[in-house]
Amino acid sequence: MTTTTDFDAVVIGAGNAGLTAAATLQRAGVRTLLVERHNIPGGCATSFRRGRFEFETALHQLSGVGTEGQQYTLRSLFDKLGVADSLEFVQEHDLYRAVVPGQYDVTLPADWAGAVDALELAFPGNRTRVEQFFALVREVTYWYTAALRKTPAADIDPVFFHQALRPLKDVLDDHFDDPGLKSVLGAYWPYIGQPPSRLAFHEMALMLYGYIEFKPWHIRGGSQAMSSALLDSFSAAGGQVRFNTAVEAILTERGRAVGVRFDDGQEVSARDVVSNTSLPVTYAMLGDDAVPTAVRDDLATRRVGVSAFALHMGLDGTPADLGFTTSTTFVGVDLDDDRTYASWRSLEPARNICVSSYDVAPIGFAPSGASHVSLLTLQYGEVWEKVPPAEYARTKFAYAETLLDLAEKAIPGIRDAIEEVDVATPLTVARYLGHPGGAIYGYDQDRTESWLFRDSERETHVPGLHLAGSWAGPGGFQPTLEAGHRVARRLLRTKAA
Ligand SMILES: Cc1cc2nc3c(=O)[nH]c(=O)nc-3n(C[C@H](O)[C@H](O)[C@H](O)COP(=O)(O)OP(=O)(O)OC[C@H]3O[C@@H](n4cnc5c(N)ncnc54)[C@H](O)[C@@H]3O)c2cc1C
Repeated sequence: MTTTTDFDAVVIGAGNAGLTAAATLQRAGVRTLLVERHNIPGGCATSFRRGRFEFETALHQLSGVGTEGQQYTLRSLFDKLGVADSLEFVQEHDLYRAVVPGQYDVTLPADWAGAVDALELAFPGNRTRVEQFFALVREVTYWYTAALRKTPAADIDPVFFHQALRPLKDVLDDHFDDPGLKSVLGAYWPYIGQPPSRLAFHEMALMLYGYIEFKPWHIRGGSQAMSSALLDSFSAAGGQVRFNTAVEAILTERGRAVGVRFDDGQEVSARDVVSNTSLPVTYAMLGDDAVPTAVRDDLATRRVGVSAFALHMGLDGTPADLGFTTSTTFVGVDLDDDRTYASWRSLEPARNICVSSYDVAPIGFAPSGASHVSLLTLQYGEVWEKVPPAEYARTKFAYAETLLDLAEKAIPGIRDAIEEVDVATPLTVARYLGHPGGAIYGYDQDRTESWLFRDSERETHVPGLHLAGSWAGPGGFQPTLEAGHRVARRLLRTKAA
């Protein structure tokens, strides 16, 4: 017996994964309603205005795009979703500049040979070791991809099984003696939110491979341009969207998801519900009785991941005036990554920041003669949840000063060039996204939480409920954009079967 429903599918949340899931479903003829509590699409992938500046909220370096001649997965995804022609990608030519005052100041170009040369110049005598390390990065990435494509284990080179899950720190220690060189090669670790001693080597291998082989990118018009283009594609295919509307309950019948209730009390029925919000919020919306025991047990053991503390700044000066040579600069106080990671649970002065200039390769946000720069460090939400409300503003601005102190070490004079500044803490991120702790990558992305071992995306245990986004798989832009499409395709396959 078939029952008539208001929609075939409801997607909760218009973050990256919600948008690609909704666009994929609607373009395949599935009548889809997209519901978003904020007034714009994108989740993290948004921008906002302050004074004469537009500020990018979250995107620092987009992976997965690839060049015209060597396209990678996101270009074909955007093509499939009909947005490729409306997006203009802006290439960053360097991976990053990494600075630890008194220790090193190295810029790595985004190509294998250039990066080897730069490292040899900064740390003479290590050329062969760097080449061997990069060869291992390529090999592990190759076999990781083969494993994802279901290559039988017997056909996969043992190097993958020996190296992929080892801590990055151990693999770096195998190759190098110089602590500075190891630190430069590990500089991307905050992008995953786990220090080299806890980070599985394959995570860093994939990231280095992705950025060196397929380059880091910005988007002209910021990540908001991408989010808006995805929404347009969804709407043009006939999809319906409701902004300023939070889903407060997922309705079930005999254990199956059958619709949602909004915060204004209205209910809509649907055959499938795709949730792009966090797992704790999704399952809380089901109500205690409907959460399967397996899910309840799993959730009880999970660790909410790290959030962000960011300064979005409009600077009175061009990147050249201010001394920017690269789009992305990592600045650390010393080489102790474990201590830096521990500091994310305290309010001690920021020990590591990512400085992003959006005008070395311009994305079109800053007025002529000015530039848009963000300073970012990671912080666990729990630290900020403990700050008394009366102390919040003072604490936030005092902590922001510590990021500026660190930025001054690499870009002297940056503080004096500030014309506009907006400061976001983990509480700001939590308020905008509705995620516990304001977590930006979902759960901690260490080896025990890895989606290789906990595939929440496939296992909701609730028929009709599907999960897409950073809480059900890896966080970050490329993974979540791809996750929404993957989950929607899986749903379409079950309909076709
Ligand atoms: C400051 C910052 C910097 C970052 N830097 C990078 C970077 O450089 N590179 C990178 O790859 N990643 C970065 N990230 C992380 C990346 O942006 C996220 O991992 C990714 O965008 C998450 O996408 P998502 O699909 O999980 O959805 P999210 O962006 O988490 O969006 C979820 C959406 O669901 C909506 N929602 C929640 N609950 C409800 C409800 N009940 N009803 C309706 N709607 C609801 C929210 O409003 C939101 O729009 C950064 C994030 C931040 C905040």
